[in-house]
Amino acid sequence: MQRKRIIIEGIVQGVGFRPFVYQAAQKIGVSGWVLNDSRGVTIEAEGQADRLAEFLRTLREDYPPLASISRFEEQDISLAGEDSFVIRQSQALEQRSAQISPDTFVCDDCLNELFDPADRRHRYPFINCTNCGPRYTIVTDIPYDRPKTTMAAFPMCPRCQGEYDDPASRRFHAQPNACPVCGPSLTLTDRRGLVLAGEDPLQQSVELLKAGKIVAIKGLGGYHLAVDACNDAAVAELRRRKVRDEKPFALMSFDLKQVERYAHCDETERRLLVGTERPIVLLRQKQGHPISDLVAPRNGYFGVMYLLLAEGFPALVMTSANLSDEPIAYEDQDAQGRLGEIADYFLRHDRAIHTRTDDSIARVMAGKALLMRRSRGYVPRGVALPATQPSVLAVGGELKNAVCVTRGDRAFLSQHIGDLKNLEVFGSFECTVDHMLGIFDLTPGIVAHDLHPDYYSSRFAEGLPDVPKLAVQHHHAHLASCLAENGVEDEAIGVIFDGIGYGADGRIWGGEFLIGGFKGYRRVGHFRYLPMPGGDAATKEPFRMALSYLYQAFGDELPQLPFLQGIPPHELKLYLQMIKRGINSPQTSSCGRLFDGVAALVGLRDRVSYEGQAALELEMAIEGEGEEGKYPYDLYEEGELLIFDPAAMIRALVNDLIQGKVVAVISARFHNTLACMVLDVCRRLRASSGIERVALSGGVFQNCYLTEKVVALLGENDFIVYTHSLVPPNDGGLALGQAIIAGQVLV
Ligand code: ZN
Ligand code: ZN
Ligand code: FE
Repeated sequence: MQRKRIIIEGIVQGVGFRPFVYQAAQKIGVSGWVLNDSRGVTIEAEGQADRLAEFLRTLREDYPPLASISRFEEQDISLAGEDSFVIRQSQALEQRSAQISPDTFVCDDCLNELFDPADRRHRYPFINCTNCGPRYTIVTDIPYDRPKTTMAAFPMCPRCQGEYDDPASRRFHAQPNACPVCGPSLTLTDRRGLVLAGEDPLQQSVELLKAGKIVAIKGLGGYHLAVDACNDAAVAELRRRKVRDEKPFALMSFDLKQVERYAHCDETERRLLVGTERPIVLLRQKQGHPISDLVAPRNGYFGVMYLLLAEGFPALVMTSANLSDEPIAYEDQDAQGRLGEIADYFLRHDRAIHTRTDDSIARVMAGKALLMRRSRGYVPRGVALPATQPSVLAVGGELKNAVCVTRGDRAFLSQHIGDLKNLEVFGSFECTVDHMLGIFDLTPGIVAHDLHPDYYSSRFAEGLPDVPKLAVQHHHAHLASCLAENGVEDEAIGVIFDGIGYGADGRIWGGEFLIGGFKGYRRVGHFRYLPMPGGDAATKEPFRMALSYLYQAFGDELPQLPFLQGIPPHELKLYLQMIKRGINSPQTSSCGRLFDGVAALVGLRDRVSYEGQAALELEMAIEGEGEEGKYPYDLYEEGELLIFDPAAMIRALVNDLIQGKVVAVISARFHNTLACMVLDVCRRLRASSGIERVALSGGVFQNCYLTEKVVALLGENDFIVYTHSLVPPNDGGLALGQAIIAGQVLV
């Protein structure tokens, strides 16, 4: 006989862990007990050595699907001699490290009940169990228990309570447990909030959608606006009311059969679509699809989500309920106020959303899922750090903001918050900081922020009293974020391509080659500095960058390209003067601006309505083109730095344009040139430093064509390549990098 104490940390609460332990103990035949405490789960088990070994193996290997184990510790203790195995009452410990699981989609068992007419939860949308359901969005405080969730307002009926108390039930201690008798319910109202009579709000909503109406639907993390995706008039009306000109809408379909009518979907994509996280997945459009062309204009992809409500439609448009740039609406009063002019009807429920979360967005590239927006379904899952470090609060960037906190050897990135320049988004940022510190029970010992002094996040950090702060260079944070996600502790070559980040020399960086790790970095190369006429305005008007590249490549003898005709002559003269004399034209090494400039040069896009649009359309333009050619380019040395000069490439590209080559070919050649240049630079850096690890980060690496080319080229040349997957390569991943750098530098 032996007795062991087993301590398990990680996501082990609210995910059916104790019933699993209880059932395993019953089956294998060991005695003892299990309890939830603030660190996780503690077990004492007693039995014959072989049974105990079997029990331990089961704990390690067969744990419930939503659980994840970050620490597993066992020790021998003296025998106690109980004759049964029991689940003990929860304990509150000093150190509160129990993790809250992300919100997850209905599990298969619950789905079966949902569609079973004989089940008491037949068609009940709030069905859940310990293996599925809402978590992060309903938690108000820790420890995670029903009174500390927005389910506190719904006392359980006797049958639900019975399940909740029964260790053998799938709903044992399922905090959001509910049924039609005792749980939240749906109501359908008109735009003024008047409740519509009827038995079945869900079915009524479906009828309204079929009639072309716009319905605001309250979901897990906030409100969405839905319309029939095949109805041109309805989609056009939604675009008009939402003041959203071109940004693609996401689609939602009931099952894969429907998705396959309008989009291509490989095995990896299919698994993402039907997994528990349910992100929006970007899928290549099919020829002859039935979806309105207004859903994703000039875009070869659809963002697709897979949900229950869309039964009876090939797809519904499902877009966050907000005006452009505002955060997603999640409170009923606020939604009514803000969306009254947009939605015809509201399908709402009476369970409060405590933390708003947008949909996550994923894309498959190089055979691997990449999160472009990390939010519902993934938050607040942790990332392992290489070592235990002091608690850090990292406040992230300014666009696509997310914050990060660390505790011990784990880092927790918040949900996507958005663009902090918007006042309401900034309010949401402040709430999220409080909430993250609250649910992880932290007082940060260090605050990390971006080097840019004017980011709202940096100013917020600077305003916090009595705590050491560290300003982290933007591209160093991107590099660290990629290394951290991949568990790499050694130095690597960082190929960091993005739109804009504040450089250590006060200039605007964005096409950067770094060598470094968590503790520091050196800038070893970059794109040649070029004037950005009008500063930030050049981001919205890519034709300005096109002029800058043209002037650099051709001087005053500008070639007569079609896009120039769109610029009034006096304006053209003005911009050229700005470029020549450097008036209101900050210098930038941005790679994102090069994509913008090329998109404008080839006539794709002289103005954009959302960030990254020009680059995205330039990539989409390649679609199916097998072009392998590339352009010449210059790399020269400037002191210790390698400089990529795009002038020769631009001249060759313009020549192709004048020869009448199609955009698909030109775009492919442009992408190929960058990929070859990256290989060229990395080879030189490997020769001088001996480092063969390369990390790819920055928003430009959301570009599938470029990423796959670079990964393949580097791989063929014996580099070890690290890319992002669960943390976005864009500024949504910055906070993780900041957090780990601060934790390692300031000790
Ligand atoms: Zn379930
Ligand atoms: Zn009930
Ligand atoms: Fe960035």
